[in-house]
Amino acid sequence: MKPLASYAADPAKTRGRKIQEPAPEGRNEFQRDRDRIIHSTAFRRLEYKTQVFVNHEGDLFRTRLTHSIEVAQIGRSIARNLGLHEDLVEAIALAHDLGHTPFGHAGQDALNACMHEFGGFEHNLQSLRVVELLEQRYAEFDGLNLTFEVREGILKHCSLQNARQLGDVGERFLDKSQPSLEAQVANLADEIAYNNHDVDDGLRSGLISLNQLAAVELFSRHLDEVRNRYPDIGERKLVHETVRRMINALVQDLCRQSGDNIAAANPESVDDVRRSAPLIAFSPDMQRQQRELKQFLRANLYRHYRVNRMSSKAQRIIRELFAVFMEDITLMPDEFQLRAQSDKPRAVADYIAGMTDRYAIREYRRLFTVEEQPL
Ligand code: MG
Repeated sequence: MKPLASYAADPAKTRGRKIQEPAPEGRNEFQRDRDRIIHSTAFRRLEYKTQVFVNHEGDLFRTRLTHSIEVAQIGRSIARNLGLHEDLVEAIALAHDLGHTPFGHAGQDALNACMHEFGGFEHNLQSLRVVELLEQRYAEFDGLNLTFEVREGILKHCSLQNARQLGDVGERFLDKSQPSLEAQVANLADEIAYNNHDVDDGLRSGLISLNQLAAVELFSRHLDEVRNRYPDIGERKLVHETVRRMINALVQDLCRQSGDNIAAANPESVDDVRRSAPLIAFSPDMQRQQRELKQFLRANLYRHYRVNRMSSKAQRIIRELFAVFMEDITLMPDEFQLRAQSDKPRAVADYIAGMTDRYAIREYRRLFTVEEQPL
């Protein structure tokens, strides 16, 4: 563990909030942001939103809530190793998926297609929209009024066209500068978390097998090590021992390589970090192994026919909900009808994006069926 580095983000030197507020007492600015995120409605809804598997398919799979907590845990370990600000990484990690639609990537793709003529839908931008506008909790402002550093970290990527409209957090996409190291850490912690938990969930669901995964270097290396050391180990423990070694190897590699990058670039401040190349990175060899694992998951899990069936059903639900609300906004709750008066498609997208998987399914039943029927 290192003390806080000179290039770490400093809550006392934040670029601030859109609406000025008195400094918090007994906690720093980033802790306050984290606390606001945890108390938000969108955060609680993550429990019933999924990544790959639809929420009602099983209780053991990751949801966006447990995913976000895993990202925060991995991100904090890395931050502490590199002398970066843990609270900032944690706040970004917990907020990074707040804008996700129901039904994971399938839901996002469907909503984006529905919004094609109206500026599109992008979950990253939506996460920002949730914390800047949609959360309605505070008397003096809409949204959560978070610090610039947390909002910047939430916006991982965006088009130049959108960047021009986003003000302060859009600047770095226009002038090609980097976000804080804490934002870079949260971004890669996200990758480490989902690659590993998708392996675990994929095996647990039976959609992929140990034999298939044995062809993936990053996995097989650790699988062999566990098997050699514990020849009689049961399968559940074998998987867990392998996955935890993979996470550990990725985190250690990231810390080592990033430490070297930081030493070589020798930044003295966050401003130096912004002007340099991205410094948080895996080694080239680990990048190659990560890519191999990702390709495996794409080919064998994300495009598995049983996943395709869930996705197709999910996309149908989103498309039909979008169409019915566009046709008649009075079917939406008052708050969204009000928003629809200034921008109907965006209000419909906001309403749908805020739904949990099971809420979207119930809403679909309420609107399209006379009797309750299993979907
Ligand atoms: Mg994520």
